[in-house]
Amino acid sequence: MFTIFVEILDILTTAFILYTALVLLKKTRSIYILRGFFGLGVFYIAAVFLNLKLTTSLFQSFISFFIIILVVLFQKEIRRFFENFTIDFFIGAFTPEIPVSDTVIDIIGHVVSRFSKKKIGAIIVLPGKQSLERVLEGGTPLNGKISEPLLLSIFDPKTIGHDGAVIIEGDIVKKFMVHLPLADSNKKYPGIGTRHRAGLGLAERTDAMIIIVSEERGTITVAQNNELEVVASVDKLKEEIHKFTGSSEGSDKQNKILKFLFSDTRDKVFILLISAFLWYLIVHK
Ligand code: ATP
Ligand code: MG
Repeated sequence: MFTIFVEILDILTTAFILYTALVLLKKTRSIYILRGFFGLGVFYIAAVFLNLKLTTSLFQSFISFFIIILVVLFQKEIRRFFENFTIDFFIGAFTPEIPVSDTVIDIIGHVVSRFSKKKIGAIIVLPGKQSLERVLEGGTPLNGKISEPLLLSIFDPKTIGHDGAVIIEGDIVKKFMVHLPLADSNKKYPGIGTRHRAGLGLAERTDAMIIIVSEERGTITVAQNNELEVVASVDKLKEEIHKFTGSSEGSDKQNKILKFLFSDTRDKVFILLISAFLWYLIVHK
């Protein structure tokens, strides 16, 4: 009876490790590496079934070697992933969310619309759960209540304060003239300028939502979860902000746990099946 529990635990642990690896690879967009792994996995399983002793033992002796190579190749991504992971699970769970009210969303909508029409460059950062302190540089503390005139004056191209980003927490403009970390490479979005790279850089490192208005084109872009997305209208932008603040609602933790358990269900079922299968192949046999 007890051994059944141990075996189930064994399968679940394997599934957890595989799932973490999957999320990690997806996050770093290394889906082609994942495909390679999948190919090797199929190959290995076929070799086991056909009882190719030499092939399987070669595989088994090389597996730790593979893992070491991967860790070296992806050390930066792995570090970042675990940073975010620990923050999400341990610190994030205990920090109360700073809600963004409809009034603040309206103010942001108005100024962004104005910047976009007049082609005034701007970066507005709405933090998520993670602290931005570890990645931001410089900036001038402001701690003033948000208003349209305030944001309009900050990004006025004639002022020295317009360079850089503003950080908004709740209804407070915390800082302006903040330097964001630049995105590592332009591979995914070739041809973007430094303003957009800065927004993307922060979205790669944290769970913040960054709103960027282009000085050259007047376009509105949202950077979030490793991605840049041009939004077609201010209404769309406001919708996105609603979604963002809604999704980072910290009050109902139970919901979050449920969401974690039931998001990506297909991936999880798939991984669970693979783990059970591996268990059957390696342990049960
Ligand atoms: P735009 O479409 O507005 O021209 P862009 O993406 O082409 O933007 P640049 O033209 O290079 O980018 O914009 C330069 C401006 O971007 C700088 O004047 C500054 O305000 C801002 N910027 C540059 N680097 C950073 C940074 N690390 N953090 C915050 N803002 C930055
Ligand atoms: Mg430019």
